[in-house]
Amino acid sequence: MGLFAKLREGLTKTRDTLMGRVDTLVKETRKIDEDFYEELEDILLMSDCGMKATTAIMDELRRRVSENKVKDADTAKQMLKDIMIEQMDIPRPPLRWPMVMLVVGVNGAGKTTTIGKLALRFQNIGRRIILCAADTFRAAAADQLTVWAERARVPIVKHAEGADPAAVVYDGIQSAKAQGADLLIVDTAGRLHNKANLMNELNKITRVIRRELPEADIETLMVLDATTGQNGLIQAKQFLDTADLTGIVLTKLDGTAKGGIVFAIANDLQLPVKYVGVGEQIDDLLEFKPAEFVEALLS
Ligand code: GDP
Repeated sequence: MGLFAKLREGLTKTRDTLMGRVDTLVKETRKIDEDFYEELEDILLMSDCGMKATTAIMDELRRRVSENKVKDADTAKQMLKDIMIEQMDIPRPPLRWPMVMLVVGVNGAGKTTTIGKLALRFQNIGRRIILCAADTFRAAAADQLTVWAERARVPIVKHAEGADPAAVVYDGIQSAKAQGADLLIVDTAGRLHNKANLMNELNKITRVIRRELPEADIETLMVLDATTGQNGLIQAKQFLDTADLTGIVLTKLDGTAKGGIVFAIANDLQLPVKYVGVGEQIDDLLEFKPAEFVEALLS
């Protein structure tokens, strides 16, 4: 099955039980009135869009329907799709090399798996990758990452458990320079219970990168489990206070996740979702495209 088909299948639950209601609503609507808007708002909220994104989408829909004197629900649905796509259109600067990708996220979100997937993805477009196991606090994190490095056939730099993460990054950068790598993907600690510590570590790592590889673009991606819905969003907000996030990777969209979370992320965090995970295999990673996503969700 293709990746888009996987995404579509993963979103089946949202599409059938919730977004399917949009179609029923559209079919049954004779007149665009307050009942129509209320029902639509309810559907968006149930799909995990969150209050803020839902309000933004609904306000804009009401405005356009009124401005264009729209009478039929089919046209309103098309407008809804356009608005949803626009709402997710957060600027995505083009990739620049060399790049250091810092990957953060709470345990279990799919951080290790995602790093493996990203390594393969960039390897496949001809880039030289090195993985860097800087989550030295979690038992066996480096071993797990090594398994993914082997799967993606990329080298990995690691130290003993408990080592200084910034020191691992320092070594990673030296390897990257020596091997002429384009991309260093750094697995960083995902503990949230000690925010000050986490912030210090990320700052230390960033300083090492700036000093040792000043020409590198630094991308800080947070891996978020889509099935955790609005709770995941709260986690992400806490991370935002701590790290300078540049994007989100949303995992497990093949599972029971409600797709609306994507709109909540764009609206609440003003961060682009850059990739989505649609399975446990190494090639189950999709570049996120707003129009494709809305198509998978609403048609
Ligand atoms: P980490 O603790 O954040 O490093 O998480 P792992 O990478 O070890 O993944 C935790 C679990 O989530 C594993 O069982 C993975 O197979 C699973 N997982 C990761 N990404 C996805 C995904 O996109 N879809 C599904 N279905 N499972 C995933």
